[in-house]
Amino acid sequence: MRIYDIIVIGAGHAGCEAALAGARMGLEVAIFTMSLDTIGQMSCNPAVGGLGKSHLVKEIDALGGEMARVTDKAGIQFKVLNKSKGPAVWATRVQCDRLLYRRFMRETLQSQENLDIKEAMVRNILIENGRVLGIETSDGAYRCKALVVATGTFLNGLIHVGLESIASGRAGEPPSIELSQSLKELGFRMGRLKTGTPPRLAAKSIDFSQMGIQESDIPPPPMSLFTKEIKNPLLPCYITYTNENTHKIILDNLKLSPLYSGIIKGIGPRYCPSIEDKVVRFRDKRRHQIFLEPEGIDSDEYYANGISTSLPRDVQIKIVKSIAGLEEAEIRRFGYAIEYDFVYPQQLKPTLETKHIEGLFLAGQINGTSGYEEAAAQGLIAGINAGVRIKNKEPFLLRRDEAYIGVLIDDLVTKGTNEPYRMFTSRAEYRLLLRQDNADLRLMEKGFNLGLINKEEFNQLLEKKALIEAEIKRIRSTRVKPDVVNPVLVRLGGTPIKEDTTLYQLLKRPEVRYSDIARISAPNPNSPSLEGELAQDVIRQVEIQIKYEGYIERQVEAAERFKRIEEKEITQDFAYKGIPGLSKEIVEKLEEVRPINLGQASRIPGVTPAAILLLEIALERHRRC
Ligand code: FAD
Repeated sequence: MRIYDIIVIGAGHAGCEAALAGARMGLEVAIFTMSLDTIGQMSCNPAVGGLGKSHLVKEIDALGGEMARVTDKAGIQFKVLNKSKGPAVWATRVQCDRLLYRRFMRETLQSQENLDIKEAMVRNILIENGRVLGIETSDGAYRCKALVVATGTFLNGLIHVGLESIASGRAGEPPSIELSQSLKELGFRMGRLKTGTPPRLAAKSIDFSQMGIQESDIPPPPMSLFTKEIKNPLLPCYITYTNENTHKIILDNLKLSPLYSGIIKGIGPRYCPSIEDKVVRFRDKRRHQIFLEPEGIDSDEYYANGISTSLPRDVQIKIVKSIAGLEEAEIRRFGYAIEYDFVYPQQLKPTLETKHIEGLFLAGQINGTSGYEEAAAQGLIAGINAGVRIKNKEPFLLRRDEAYIGVLIDDLVTKGTNEPYRMFTSRAEYRLLLRQDNADLRLMEKGFNLGLINKEEFNQLLEKKALIEAEIKRIRSTRVKPDVVNPVLVRLGGTPIKEDTTLYQLLKRPEVRYSDIARISAPNPNSPSLEGELAQDVIRQVEIQIKYEGYIERQVEAAERFKRIEEKEITQDFAYKGIPGLSKEIVEKLEEVRPINLGQASRIPGVTPAAILLLEIALERHRRC
């Protein structure tokens, strides 16, 4: 029997990244999916990125993952959100063509060396002496050294439309029942979550003239650093609203909702609620926004973002027809809710390997998250760590001050989750350091060292770094005279200067942009920083690094303090029992999570600062012994 280095179960967003990372690290990988036709399937809305999430996608990109590149190839609308706020919360959102996304992800997998793609239902995980041995599928057994399970919403999936329930992993696809049982038999503690999706509408039945319109940014801002050109036509989205009549229909039919009749037991996403939830929870709100998003260039379907629902089909028809512009709308596919099993993620190490079975990794929605981006980020980390484990190298970990991916994984394995977890910028303590614009400066070298970023790509990063440094140096040292500067300052509404000053002092003023100081004193005309896309990137960095310097420095200092406590490692067999003064309850919490360092220990819910002090003393004593 052939022994693969890594087997990945699931070809969703987590599985694809895990398989590509493993194969690109030179390992023999097989990816299993229930259907080859749904590789890279976007189960819900056809969009990637958005607030907090684009940070993850850009980090995946900088580390050598695939999501951002495929997004750009499939993108049909590109926007940077939050532009009126500070750069820490800017976020790119890309509306995709659903079929193109699948096609390009499948092509990437197909053309990847060392990667076999297999369609089969995986039924069982094979274990020997606490280590992964392989899998049993509908087509036979396969052996591997490491296994990544990335089965999304499929474990014991149950779809609800009104009071009807049907076992299913996603609309039209079977659930994964035996595999869920296999995980339970291996001793994993599992829970139940829920998510939902709205109806899709036929374009020809929509009256767009009654709606607001949202166009793409021009030029379209790509998601990936490596994209040179966006080739697809750009399509608009449309905006409409629910109204009091819509809300009345929903409230009148609540008894037919599986959510409110008690049929659904799983907890749903708090930040992405169904329309029934929104109407019940926010009774005073007179309308809720709906974005009608095109499903693709050749598709005549629109995704009704904002009215996710599991009400019966006849009620869904009434809801849709009550909305301005949708009076004649035809529903192509009805909305539904899905309940599924997940594994409580405190049972994982920060590498995403399970604590009690060696070589078994879990990634994506199975760990209690929601969203393509969260799934892809975990897939990449699980794939990398499966790889470094086989190569006997150090685990690949990202700290909270290094990446949103670090925040995501630390939150999951340290605090766990009881509801679908999604990323927000507010979850990151060091968000001024973790901007989407500097993901490459933070992470690409790590991707290069792992073999996921090639030499040419890495050299471009080095060139960009050098240009940024040189331009900041020039701006700091170039002095300019009042007679040159003041006409510009007056035009910008700023206070004139009386004595010579540096370009640096000028750029720190809120009203002054880089383009203004470049006009006052242009950089060397032969400098490559003046040309092309690189120029824009370099200019953005120069501007952000100078304008926000004080805030950034303060966060760097805070991150340094944070790092000191993260560096106090705790071995996995450390004995918490017997530490003087530590309560039984805290010992249990520490034993459950088994933190890898003092910093992680301090973030476990219920572990108090006083307990951390006791633990620190005990660690110090242990180190000296
Ligand atoms: P998935 O993309 O679900 O992929 C799972 C893969 O595992 C599939 O390829 C499947 O074939 C394979 N698989 C499963 N079991 C087996 C087996 N036994 N053998 C072989 N292959 C197997 N996210 C949001 O952020 N917002 C939303 O509003 C939202 N709504 C959603 C609504 C619905 C109805 C669904 C289904 C999902 C929704 N999501 C939403 C979640 C989003 O789709 C997921 O977060 C994301 O796709 C998870 O990626 P994943 O890689 O973990 O799993």
